[in-house]
Amino acid sequence: MDEKQVLLNALQFHGHKCWASTAGVRAGLVALRTLGVRRSGAKSLHVVLENGYYHGAMCFGDGVQYTTGCTYGKGNIEKAPKGKLALTLIDKERGRAVRVAYKPTLQAQIKASAFMHKRAAGVPPTDIPEEEQWELVNLVWDAPEKDVLTIGPVKDHEWNEPDEVVRFAVCAGCGELVAEPYMRLVAGEPLCMDCSGYAV
Ligand SMILES: [Zn+2]
Ligand SMILES: [Zn+2]
Repeated sequence: MDEKQVLLNALQFHGHKCWASTAGVRAGLVALRTLGVRRSGAKSLHVVLENGYYHGAMCFGDGVQYTTGCTYGKGNIEKAPKGKLALTLIDKERGRAVRVAYKPTLQAQIKASAFMHKRAAGVPPTDIPEEEQWELVNLVWDAPEKDVLTIGPVKDHEWNEPDEVVRFAVCAGCGELVAEPYMRLVAGEPLCMDCSGYAV
């Protein structure tokens, strides 16, 4: 799949077209290339995402998830909340890692765009005209790599894989499926946290 198609698929997954998800796609692709690895459908890769919460550029994380295959569903991505558009990609098998960060060269142009004026006025990105969405996607996508990304050195990174829980049980209270370490035993009965009343 060529990289433009990866971008289009990522934007489809993301739900709208924006500069931050596009920056995430570029950063993810560069991290893969720098380590010489491919997007993983299993768990050979791991991402530490410095995004953080409740700010306007969290979309970066969807670009990273889509390109690297490190997703919240698989659990091979974790947040290191620093409010930055940066990721560290770890190749667990070869014990190597690289950090890639978005370089804010284009921020003045982005801030001055019709898209961002509308976002600042509270318009949801999906209500902004397509051509104004594409304007920022193209700006970030077409910029020379050295202008939009800082690529760190490849470093050794030891990885100790936690054991994966494969045992599940059915809660005697609500009948829902629960991974065993989360079960509580109350008067001999296996109960989920909700039914047992135990706090996390
Ligand atoms: Zn977005
Ligand atoms: Zn229950």
